[in-house]
Amino acid sequence: MGFVFLPPVQPSVPVAGTGDLFPVRRIWCVARNYAAHAREMGADPNQDPPFFFAKPGDAVVMDGAAIPYPSQTNNLHHEAELVVALKSGGQDLAQDKALDCVFGYAPGIDLTRRDLQEQAKKAGRPWDVAKGFDRSAPIGAIRPASQIGHPSKGAITLSVNGQMRQAGDLSDMIWPVAGVLAHLSRLVRLEAGDLIFTGTPEGVGPLVRGDRAVVNIDGVGSLNITIS
Ligand code: MN
Repeated sequence: MGFVFLPPVQPSVPVAGTGDLFPVRRIWCVARNYAAHAREMGADPNQDPPFFFAKPGDAVVMDGAAIPYPSQTNNLHHEAELVVALKSGGQDLAQDKALDCVFGYAPGIDLTRRDLQEQAKKAGRPWDVAKGFDRSAPIGAIRPASQIGHPSKGAITLSVNGQMRQAGDLSDMIWPVAGVLAHLSRLVRLEAGDLIFTGTPEGVGPLVRGDRAVVNIDGVGSLNITIS
């Protein structure tokens, strides 16, 4: 049996310093994983289990890309995030084994149509079109954990046109990476190729046409995009 048309191109992300590509399966994102950002969004940070939303795998955008301002929004927001890339997975991962599944880490931006998200929150509707739109997941080259280890502290920053907008520290995560993976693996089976955006520190804000946003994460790398 053949396909009725050519299968879609496999989304992928470059592995830093190599000619290799990391093939993307699914993209999951953690909401409100830094207390100060939870507060700026009007939520009460606490130790409730993390909650998740998804983006399509083909929403990934390469470092250096020009991203057209998305449709149906007047309030596109940046959220700088550490992205975890999995080389294996499983269900019900134990927290002390979860990091064994990690291939590497990259800087990412969880682009958000904030106006659509606010409407969805008010109406009790899903966040999909606010979060999972085309090109909503810019991600830098992945640095293998075999080279950089598993970063649990260090600065995560995002600047727009050279002005600092977000400056946090990975150690401020409410749920560290191992905890995120353990929780998520109770909800869905994780597999090689999955990417997990681990939440953003405070200072989220709008991007407009012509803006250049740069994310830096200590020990992980950088990502830059422009909005065209
Ligand atoms: Mn986010």
